[in-house]
Amino acid sequence: MPIRFDSSYARLPDRFHARLPPTPVAAPSLVRVNGPLAVQLGIDPDWLAGPEGVAMIAGNVLPAGAEPIALAYAGHQFGQFVPKLGDGRAILLGEVVGRDGLRRDIQLKGSGPTPFSRRGDGRAALGPVLREYLVSEAMAALGIPTTRALAAVTTGEQVFRETAMPGAVIARVAASHVRVGTFQYFAARGDVEAVRILADHVIARHHPQAADAELPYRALLDAVIAAQASLVARWMLVGFVHGVMNTDNMTVSGETIDYGPCAFMESFDPGAVFSSIDHAGRYAWGNQPRIALWNLTRLAEALLPLLAEDEDAAVKLAEAALSGFGPAFEAAWLDGLCRKIGIADHGAGDSALAQDLLQRMAENAADFTLTFRHLAEAASGNDAPARALFQDPAAFDAWAEAWRARLAQQGRDAAATRGALLAANPLYIPRNHLVEEAIAAAVARDDLGPFETLVEVLARPFDEQPGAGRHALPARPEERVLQTFCGT
Ligand code: AMP
Ligand code: MG
Repeated sequence: MPIRFDSSYARLPDRFHARLPPTPVAAPSLVRVNGPLAVQLGIDPDWLAGPEGVAMIAGNVLPAGAEPIALAYAGHQFGQFVPKLGDGRAILLGEVVGRDGLRRDIQLKGSGPTPFSRRGDGRAALGPVLREYLVSEAMAALGIPTTRALAAVTTGEQVFRETAMPGAVIARVAASHVRVGTFQYFAARGDVEAVRILADHVIARHHPQAADAELPYRALLDAVIAAQASLVARWMLVGFVHGVMNTDNMTVSGETIDYGPCAFMESFDPGAVFSSIDHAGRYAWGNQPRIALWNLTRLAEALLPLLAEDEDAAVKLAEAALSGFGPAFEAAWLDGLCRKIGIADHGAGDSALAQDLLQRMAENAADFTLTFRHLAEAASGNDAPARALFQDPAAFDAWAEAWRARLAQQGRDAAATRGALLAANPLYIPRNHLVEEAIAAAVARDDLGPFETLVEVLARPFDEQPGAGRHALPARPEERVLQTFCGT
C-alpha cells in the first residue's frame, strides 16, 4: 500500500535536519493502530496493522517515497537555554496530505539514535509510548488541538532506564513538528536567513493568512500567540497540566506536543504539579499562561530581525504582539469557563460567579472533572452528585443558589441547559491511576486489555458508556498517583 509522501520540510536547506533512516529493531509486534486516523490520512488501517505496516512503524522497512530526517531545534529547558537539542530519538518519515486536504507529518518516536541523541539511546520504553497514545488521543477526543497517535509497536528489544523495560515505537502525526525552539536554533546562530526560511515555511503551512498582511512576520507572531493562548485555555478548562512546557515542547501550529510527565488533575488545585522534576512548580496548572507567554517572548526575540530593520521598531512590534496574549487567553478562558457552568452569553458578574465556584472547589478538594459534569444534574434540581464532591457540601449549596438564579435569567429550558452542560463537560478523562494501571498491565503482564479498554472509553469522553463506571471516578486514596515521570 503506497503512502503518498510529499515532504516539504525535507526540501528545506541541509542545516534544518539530518538525513538518516530509522534503526531496525529485533522483533516488532503491533500494539495498536488508530483506524480512523489512518483513514483520514489515506492509509489502509488493515495494511497498517499487517506485517508491512508493522515493519514500517518499527523502522524495519522504509516506505517508498519517504525522506527520513531528524529535525534540528534548540530550546529553553526549565529556563535554561540549550542551543542544540533536535530529534534525538525521532525520525520524520515524511508528510502526507490527507483526505481533508491538510498536510501532516508522520514521525516515528523511539526509532533509534540520530546525530542529535547526545547521550541518549534513541529509544522509547513501552510505558511512555502507551501514555502518549492514551493522552494524546484523549485530548483529540476532547476537541483540543494535539499531535495524534497513528500506531504503536513493541520492538522485541529492551531499553534500560531505571530498570530494563520493553522497548516500543509510536508513530505520531502532527500538523508539523516546528517548535518555538526551532526558531531559537537558528536565531542563536545568528542565521537570519534560516529564520526567514523557517518563518516563510510556517506561514505557508499553518498561518497562510499572515502572508497577505501588511507585516507578514508580525502577523505570524500574532497568529502563534493567538493559537497558544487558546490552546492553554483549553488545557486548563479540562484540568490538564502539560508538565514540561519547555520551548522545544511548544509548537507554532498551536497543537499540544510532548506527553511526557503530563497529567489531568483530580481534586482542583491551581498549584497542581505532577512532574517529578518540576520542583519549583514552574509548570503548575495555574502557571501555564504565564509560561506560555514567557515561551512566546522567546519566539518574538528569535523573530526580531524579521519584524523591522530598526531594532527599536522591531522590539516595539514584538511587544505589541505579546501584549495580545493576556486578553486572548482571558477571553478564551472566560468563554470556556462560562460554557462549563451553562452560561452561553456571559456578561458582567459571570466571571465572578465562575471564579467563586473554582474557589470553593479548591477549598473543598472537589474533583475538577466531575464537579462540572454533575452540574447537568444540578441544573435539573438534583444537587446530590455535585455536592457530594465537596468536603463541606454546604459550600456547593451556597454557590448553586446564585447559579440557578443566573441560569433562570437566561430563559433557556432545563433540557437545553442540561444538554449544553453535558456537551461542555467531559465525563471521562485519562485519570492518572487508570493510565498507570493500563501501563502496568502491559509492561508487567503483556496484557493490553486495560490499555485498549481505556483508549475506547476516552474516544467518547462526553458520552456515558455502560460498564465504564469506574473510568469516570477519581482515584481512591490508595490508588492516587502523585508524580509522573518523563520516562525518556
Ligand atoms: P523531551 O524531554 O522529550 O522534550 O526531550 C528533550 C530532548 O532530549 C530532545 O532533544 C529529545 O530528542 C532528547 N531525548 C529524549 N530522550 C532521548 C533518548 N532516549 N535518546 C536520545 N535523545 C533523547
Ligand atoms: Mg520534547
